[in-house]
Amino acid sequence: MQYISLKDTKKTTKTTFKDAVIRGLSKDGGLFFPENIAPLPQVFFDNIASYSNEEIAFQAIKQFVGNEIPEAVLKQIISETINFDFPTVKINENTYSLELYHGPTLAFKDVGARFMARCLAYFNKNNTEQVTVLVATSGDTGSAVANGFLGVKGVDVVILYPKDKVSEIQEKQLTTLRQNIIALEIDGVFDDCQALVKQAFNDTDIIKVRKLTSANSINIARWLPQMFYFFFAYKQLKSLNKELVISVPSGNFGNICAGLLAQKLGLPIKKFVAATNSNDTVPNYLLTNEYKPKPTIQTISNAMDVSDPSNFVRILALFNGKIPADKLNAYSFTDTATKKQLLSTYATEKYLLDPHGAVAYLGLTKELEKHNNALGVLLETAHPVKFIDTVQAIINEEISIPKSLNSLLEKEKKAIAMVNNYQVFKDYLIRTKK
Ligand SMILES: *Cc1c(COP(=O)(O)O)cnc(C)c1O
Repeated sequence: MQYISLKDTKKTTKTTFKDAVIRGLSKDGGLFFPENIAPLPQVFFDNIASYSNEEIAFQAIKQFVGNEIPEAVLKQIISETINFDFPTVKINENTYSLELYHGPTLAFKDVGARFMARCLAYFNKNNTEQVTVLVATSGDTGSAVANGFLGVKGVDVVILYPKDKVSEIQEKQLTTLRQNIIALEIDGVFDDCQALVKQAFNDTDIIKVRKLTSANSINIARWLPQMFYFFFAYKQLKSLNKELVISVPSGNFGNICAGLLAQKLGLPIKKFVAATNSNDTVPNYLLTNEYKPKPTIQTISNAMDVSDPSNFVRILALFNGKIPADKLNAYSFTDTATKKQLLSTYATEKYLLDPHGAVAYLGLTKELEKHNNALGVLLETAHPVKFIDTVQAIINEEISIPKSLNSLLEKEKKAIAMVNNYQVFKDYLIRTKK
């Protein structure tokens, strides 16, 4: 499979899967996008319920990897990536929650991070040189990436996170892994961490001693495997024989873009809903045809606090520049509405959502008003316990922490405290190179 850069309108330079994964972003700054997308045969969808998740995932992704990873290795990578559940849980007669939080860090980003880590490890297998993955995180991404790379040979992970700005659970997820994972607790905010990482990537003194790679969320190896969720939802709900409307809580729009790609492969999804918080650039675009990002607004669904979503260009590319109204709708909701939804779903339907799932539920309800007889699916992208303080305050009740988290919370934090100073960071990276 060849990949083009979405900044290269003439589509003249093409890149392999391997190269696109290693580089992350094209030299011209564009996102990589598959040159061709071939639909899967109808018989695959007819018989989907008889396939294992591993077989489904393999069929979905194989054309995007091509022969660059041998079939047996790709199957092994897939089985290690998705070795947990993706259940559809009934909330009411025509609403299901697709729970994507049963992976090791309790948010859906585990799948992309695990897949990417294993692809990189495969491509790096003959290199004698150790690779360093540098990531700045505001919480969820760092832990998914760190977990994905834990124990991967030939790879060191250095995570930068802002001191006192992540939740206790998130911090423990970042700082208790050890092995090849190093956590730097930066005395600053997330933007400081990101600035340090960006500067390091352009610093020849560092590049001379360390081979740096980014595990950025726009990497195709993090984006593509998110398709699997939509196939798994269809597999579980197909026998109900209803049209499916799927609502995706969206920030950087990678997840929903993967859903639209699955639809392009032939997956029978009637309609997608992009549900956003107050960061409403895309809902406004669909109304006005003008793409006008505003300054980012902080909300209680903070993993979606993005006002200029990187993957939006991929959605446009999927539809040749014009998003059809019958395929995708987008709605934005305030924190007040989100809290109200979370509370009422808990009180009347006995289902506890996290703030991101609550936004998805709002979007789903709005869209279902337009469809008689459709079945609605919301993507629940994080375990409510990841946002324990917010959720407890909304429902005015203590929620119990899963056993796996109790043992995590007992583990001892190990982080290197660092001032927000580039020279200090740089010296550290050079001094500690193995
Ligand atoms: C990252 C994230 C999202 C947003 O996903 P995008 O692919 O960026 O649109 C939603 N919910 C949670 C919990 C997340 O961590």
